[in-house]
Amino acid sequence: MFSLKYMFNMFAFLIRTALDCTDEPFFERYSALEPERWEEINKDVKKFFPTLFYNGHIVQMSDSLCSKELLEQLRAVVMGKKEEYDKQLLVLLLTILDSSMSKYIENYVTKEAIKGINSNADQTKVQLLPRVKCSWEHSNRGSCHYNGLINYLNFFYFIDMNKTNGYEIWNQFLSDDTFSTARKRKALKIGMCPLTNQGNLNWTKETRNGIGYFSITDIEDKEIIEENMLKLNVELKKHQVDIAIMPEMLGNHQIEENFKEIFSEFPDDGCENCPLIVFPSIWSNHHNIVTVFNEQGDIVIQQEKQHPFLYTISKDERYLEDIQPEKKISLIHCDGVGRIAILICKDALMIEYIQMVLNILKVTLLIIPSFSTGNYDFQEIVQCCRSADCCVCWINTCSVANLNGANNKKLEPIGFFLRCGKKSELPDGIFRCNRKEQSCCNGEERDCGRCVFTFDLPFG
Ligand SMILES: [Zn+2]
Repeated sequence: MFSLKYMFNMFAFLIRTALDCTDEPFFERYSALEPERWEEINKDVKKFFPTLFYNGHIVQMSDSLCSKELLEQLRAVVMGKKEEYDKQLLVLLLTILDSSMSKYIENYVTKEAIKGINSNADQTKVQLLPRVKCSWEHSNRGSCHYNGLINYLNFFYFIDMNKTNGYEIWNQFLSDDTFSTARKRKALKIGMCPLTNQGNLNWTKETRNGIGYFSITDIEDKEIIEENMLKLNVELKKHQVDIAIMPEMLGNHQIEENFKEIFSEFPDDGCENCPLIVFPSIWSNHHNIVTVFNEQGDIVIQQEKQHPFLYTISKDERYLEDIQPEKKISLIHCDGVGRIAILICKDALMIEYIQMVLNILKVTLLIIPSFSTGNYDFQEIVQCCRSADCCVCWINTCSVANLNGANNKKLEPIGFFLRCGKKSELPDGIFRCNRKEQSCCNGEERDCGRCVFTFDLPFG
């Protein structure tokens, strides 16, 4: 594996070179290469890199193959002039390396989040990563909307750090058997929980440089929230939910600690816990952070809210959420799901941010925990996810009625699910979570404690 590290670095270096010398029109032309030209560049690649082929087929990279000479030769490809032909040859070479190194990234799993599998990301500004499959992504992978290098790689994926708007991107890879139940039933079950209608938030205000800010100091009725989460945990297991999602801001450190303990022990009922739970975010010390736990109660990722909410009481009384986030985005990669990102409430409404997440990070499942008086803006913005084959789960909480006096009509629906990609039948792709249909906050269970809206996605 010693020399493979250099191959990954060389691969990232070649990707950077290709990114710098090509543009969308180049890839438009490349997609229409004539067979004669195709033959010609193929022949040249085989002539320059005979060791990468055997009987005309691409060979798997190996320690013996990965020599200093090969690295020198690869470097030489990009040192010359950048005529159209050279660029075509470079792109073809990248697709060959992609396939040649594929077996080294099969079933790739990380213990801790990484930036890339290459160690020269800071120099090349390319984060090289394994590309996990997404069951609902179209096989042409958006090539009718976008022409670029990433369309020509099958096994690797990369992040162009020059295009992430200054955000650091961290990547966590889950093992293939994370969603084994979903694989058997060929459907990934998403469960969304409004959690409670009792979550009152206490807040303080502060003025700095003439700007009004608000901070969340505490949540009332923590006992009800914890009680509901325990009830919901039973429901999630009963429905065999694969990914559970809870709303923004109703989290609490003590509740998380208690759940970590519950999850770390063998379940009382013998049923396995939900493989991935997006806990309600915790507002604390100028940070609004969501934690995602796995079934054993280990942290998978944490994601901070990046854009402050403007709390408008009246025309003259407005306060900005007093968050000071670190500019980091954490992605979860898992075979079958593709790439998951969490955009907390307002983050999903910021057009530049969501477009970067879709177009540069190529996220395929977007999770939006909210604490919001309306759903209209969210339903509008997520339409841009459709061409990216990115499914969306948005969940709000019934507690908003308590705090902001938002009427119940505004909280209908309390969540929605946008189904994209293959076999998405609904005209606008949106399945709404209607509280009335589910008797959320109505029946005997007066505070959403057993209310889970579930949706299935094709899987495996
Ligand atoms: Zn409810």
